[in-house]
Amino acid sequence: MRKLIVAGNWKMNKTLQEGIDLARAVNEKINGQKALVVLCTPFIHLSEVKKVITKSSLFLGAQNCSSKSAGAYTGETSASMIKSTGADYVIIGHSERRAYFKETDKTLNNKIRLALENELIPIYCCGEVLPEREAGKHFDVVQSQINEGLFSLSNKEFSKVVIAYEPVWAIGTGLNATPEQAQEMHAYIRDLIDDKYGKSVAGDTTIQYGGSCKPANAKELFAQPDVDGGLIGGASLSEEDFIAIVNSI
Ligand code: PEP
Repeated sequence: MRKLIVAGNWKMNKTLQEGIDLARAVNEKINGQKALVVLCTPFIHLSEVKKVITKSSLFLGAQNCSSKSAGAYTGETSASMIKSTGADYVIIGHSERRAYFKETDKTLNNKIRLALENELIPIYCCGEVLPEREAGKHFDVVQSQINEGLFSLSNKEFSKVVIAYEPVWAIGTGLNATPEQAQEMHAYIRDLIDDKYGKSVAGDTTIQYGGSCKPANAKELFAQPDVDGGLIGGASLSEEDFIAIVNSI
């Protein structure tokens, strides 16, 4: 069965104490909603945030993991370290990592494999930049990201992955994709999965939308048949906005 998942990506925000307070406030308001909820915190928050999560539909996630499994890689954090904090999810291939840290689809494929080996659910981000959309290349870009990043996985491995479609021009800009634009791309992604892994896997894959999702537009976006929740940046930093988004599923 396809899961509906709303994940908050805190990015590089919140001190440890602020993060614990936010997680505690979200935890208190989780109460029988339809969607699973994930808090993707900075690494240093993970184990402390885990302690305040008591609701069974609230999960912990990281925002990145190393493409190496262990060893002399100063400053890196491995998938097994993340798992050991009690996290269950990890965002892989966020556009900020692709742009600022030059992460390639090949590197991201390594990260996906390490996440899966360590029983973390990868939330794999894909999406085009504005000039690519304006040139009508958005489908090709997303196809290539999914192909290179994910399609070497076995059927069993792939069925554990969550995909987040995040048009880069919509991230943090206040300019969200229209529900029709989101649905069009999500349906396209599901068709790609169908061609590669078959109808049942495609039907069960969670495809989140991300990009300036907020309480005012979440309901319409989530009402689209192929939009299975969201990856929320800015609005996840406010407990009220984040819960309003979760409640709009
Ligand atoms: C994100 O960073 O994944 C994101 C969707 O950010 P925002 O909601 O702020 O656009």
